[in-house]
Amino acid sequence: MTVGRAAVFLDRDGTIIRDTHYLSRPEHVELLPGAAQSIQRLNEAALPVILVTNQSGIGRGYFTTDDFLLVQSRVEELVEETGARIDGVYMCPHRPDAAGNRACECRKPGTALFLRAIADHGIDPALSWFIGDRWRDVHPSILLGGKGILVPTPETPGAEIILAQAEATVANSLEHAVSKIITSPPKIPEHR
Ligand SMILES: [Mg+2]
Ligand SMILES: [Zn+2]
Repeated sequence: MTVGRAAVFLDRDGTIIRDTHYLSRPEHVELLPGAAQSIQRLNEAALPVILVTNQSGIGRGYFTTDDFLLVQSRVEELVEETGARIDGVYMCPHRPDAAGNRACECRKPGTALFLRAIADHGIDPALSWFIGDRWRDVHPSILLGGKGILVPTPETPGAEIILAQAEATVANSLEHAVSKIITSPPKIPEHR
């Protein structure tokens, strides 16, 4: 059996950049305070940093995949200006159905994008961390056996914070979440 490595899955909007809702213009990209430094600490700890992002604005027709790619390039440019690095980016372009339910396998909390990243990067999800500002970013940690950390913003629903306190972990900033990761003892993989 191949032994995978630990990684950190990060949400993008509201987690490393300001969430302006259906962000489609590179000039509107703004890194959140401490985001680049947090990514750099993960780089230094040799933990791959994988962005997983829902972009239903594409499926809703608000912007195009090319707009997404320009915004994403700007995000990476700002991160790289600080000497930090993002190791992989996975995006769901689909909209939920009329009832608000997922209409695809890849929209978070679906696990399809995570499973693709796990295969591409040789990751063991049970050793990995799932971080974001919404429960849907963190819930895959339960489905895939890793550890979840919710980093709420003022827009995170209170019920999701309560859920994360019970089922995962809550940190008051990305920097604190990363500190938890770096200082956490390595988990010994089971079933090897
Ligand atoms: Mg978010
Ligand atoms: Zn999708």
